[in-house]
Amino acid sequence: MPKSSEFKIRIRENICPRCGRPSADGGLCGACRVAQLSWFSCPARVVSICCPSCGSWKEAGLWVDTGVPREELAYELARRAIHIIPEVSNPGVAISIHDQSSNRSIAECRMSGTLLGEPVEGSCQIEILWQKEQCDRCSRMSGSYHEGVVQVRATGRKPLPWELRNAGRIAHEVEEALVSSGERLSFISEIEETRDGLDITIGSQRIGQEIATAIVRAMGGRYTTHPKLVGERAGKRLFRITYSVRLPKYMRGDIIVVHGRYAEVQNADGRDVRFSEIPDGQQRSAPENRIDALVGNVRDAAEYLVVFREGDTIGVLDPATGESTECRIPPGMQAEPGDRIRILRTADELILLG
Ligand SMILES: [Zn+2]
Ligand SMILES: [Zn+2]
Repeated sequence: MPKSSEFKIRIRENICPRCGRPSADGGLCGACRVAQLSWFSCPARVVSICCPSCGSWKEAGLWVDTGVPREELAYELARRAIHIIPEVSNPGVAISIHDQSSNRSIAECRMSGTLLGEPVEGSCQIEILWQKEQCDRCSRMSGSYHEGVVQVRATGRKPLPWELRNAGRIAHEVEEALVSSGERLSFISEIEETRDGLDITIGSQRIGQEIATAIVRAMGGRYTTHPKLVGERAGKRLFRITYSVRLPKYMRGDIIVVHGRYAEVQNADGRDVRFSEIPDGQQRSAPENRIDALVGNVRDAAEYLVVFREGDTIGVLDPATGESTECRIPPGMQAEPGDRIRILRTADELILLG
């Protein structure tokens, strides 16, 4: 065969049948093959459902707390909606958001990458519809739905104002921790001070249990649970639970009389009281019902100056009134003129704490 005809045939074989440009194997060239492929897809619109009250976001039928501003959410929604086939290397997406109205935004998206060795580019528009719907939590809260109540009371006394504040603070800390770990329905719907203590109305049994446990851990005492059948839904029996927290009768720092001696309470769990005896600091414990009397709390003690000592008798100056008083020092307590000594004044005597 003459050389020239062989050359012509080879040229014909190596031309792209579609665009006439050279092709490696005589089939479609790279650019034409790539042009035939749909290497990305993008929906015309996406719908975002947001709770107008708390800003949480409904994703695949589930509510989640985001705290993400709308513009960032729009980027996220557009980015997730665009699909680029895995054969594209170095894929890139650039998005700009244009708000059209309070319930409609447009995402302009530009995609790029490399496919079969050819650079590719494309663009699309995604309409983002912002819909509002009250979330599960807000609708429960506004409908005063609840699953129980934590009642904080004290044994044989009324809880003190600082104890109620403390219990309320603990409850809010538990709520914050649960909500930030994704327990959306573990909310507190109401905290109310009652005649006997504090009532904390809660959205789930989980939070009720955790609040009761946390209060007892921090403040002593114990709790019991009391379920009450309130109805039936979809064949399931519905209960509300009362978590009854009993703060102990005695609390840390209480000055008590036990076995005829003064002592300072270290802690109490509602059954036993641990205390240190005054003045030697000996640690002991006794059942709560063996405590003879409660005379006060160290928080109410003051520092008195010792002005003289004669045997077991000392003279002290009341820091508030400047009045001097004589009292007996208990055996084993150190008190010399010039010392300062903590004293708890009760209605009829001075109790030297040391
Ligand atoms: Zn071609
Ligand atoms: Zn909400």
